[in-house]
Amino acid sequence: MEKDAAHGVALLRQFIAQGDVEDAVMAQYTLALCYKVGDGVEADTVQAAMWCQRAADGGDAKAIEMLPLIRTCDFCGTTPARQHCNRCRKVRYCGAACQEGHWNRATDPHKGHCRRATDGGLTTLTQAL
Ligand SMILES: [Zn+2]
Ligand SMILES: [Zn+2]
Repeated sequence: MEKDAAHGVALLRQFIAQGDVEDAVMAQYTLALCYKVGDGVEADTVQAAMWCQRAADGGDAKAIEMLPLIRTCDFCGTTPARQHCNRCRKVRYCGAACQEGHWNRATDPHKGHCRRATDGGLTTLTQAL
């Protein structure tokens, strides 16, 4: 993890807590992107969607545009995919069929990327935003 990027995320959080509304919305959107790509934080699709939703609620045009992309199923591309891998929180799916498909697919399967995949097989999907 980049030290500077982690510092940037801490600053963003501080900014959201203190900033005026318009700037806070921009910081929320930036934080959503950090969580989406794992910049300065562990990638977390749940946090990404939460911050993006907040920025969208605040009227940020980029966040409104980004929201469907953040919620896209990592297997079939459907939006909104309302469930996520509970083990790594990095991927989201529309349901168990997509999770299983992604986990076992021939090319670049999720079991090769998922945190602690060696602990066992599929984990229970958790309802996300
Ligand atoms: Zn899907
Ligand atoms: Zn996973």
